[in-house]
Amino acid sequence: MQVKKRLYIGLLAVSLLIVIGLAALLWYLFANRALLINQVVLISLAYVAAVLFALLGLGILGIVIMIKRSKSVPSLEAVTLWANEMLFPMALLTGKFFGIDKEKILKSYISVNNYLVGNKKLALKSSDIMILLPHCLQNSECKFKITIDVENCKKCGKCKISDLRELAERYRVKLRVATGGTLARKWIQENHPKAVIAVACERDLSAGIQDTGELPVLGVLNCRPNGPCINTDVDVAEIERALLIMLSKGGL
Ligand code: SF4
Repeated sequence: MQVKKRLYIGLLAVSLLIVIGLAALLWYLFANRALLINQVVLISLAYVAAVLFALLGLGILGIVIMIKRSKSVPSLEAVTLWANEMLFPMALLTGKFFGIDKEKILKSYISVNNYLVGNKKLALKSSDIMILLPHCLQNSECKFKITIDVENCKKCGKCKISDLRELAERYRVKLRVATGGTLARKWIQENHPKAVIAVACERDLSAGIQDTGELPVLGVLNCRPNGPCINTDVDVAEIERALLIMLSKGGL
């Protein structure tokens, strides 16, 4: 397992241990106030907590199993997704506590997500796939409104939108440009893709992956040679690789 993936999974596991530790402390405090608190309620709470912790642990184990086997385990997908969503904020806090750079954690999270999505071996039709681009990829001096319709791009070659239009046309996949989460959600709702290839920075990509729930999203990080959010760039070959993963039965 690559270091990138290990970091995020490790943080998930440590987060779970911290939650268990806090719950144990709570239990200890409550147990010593037995006269005030009904024992039946306490025991019921302990059972509920034990089940929750077991499910969260199973979710982390599911991620490890799927990465080790390089294959998705459909019966574990729901619990894995749920555990991931529940422990994600905690993993970020734990990483902050240990002084780990947030971008590094988000990159690790995206890497784990991409691996799990790739292992699903989706074998989709190209018409079911949507490539979602951030507006900042467009040359800032371009006057054409590509967020309304990407076909407004005249393919002048001053930014990667031109290459990406060609890629989308060659594979016959949908291509949309969004200025943020709201427009991205609108494109997804209107087009009903079965999977998305999203390009963005670490923060927006991880938020988008969390936001889309069960919809498979392969994340491709953009490059920011001019700083964040202006005239950004992306490796078109990486997007094509993501496309081939979603189209192929072999997955990764
Ligand atoms: S490639 Fe398209 S979007 Fe980019 S600057 Fe040229 S016309 Fe504008």
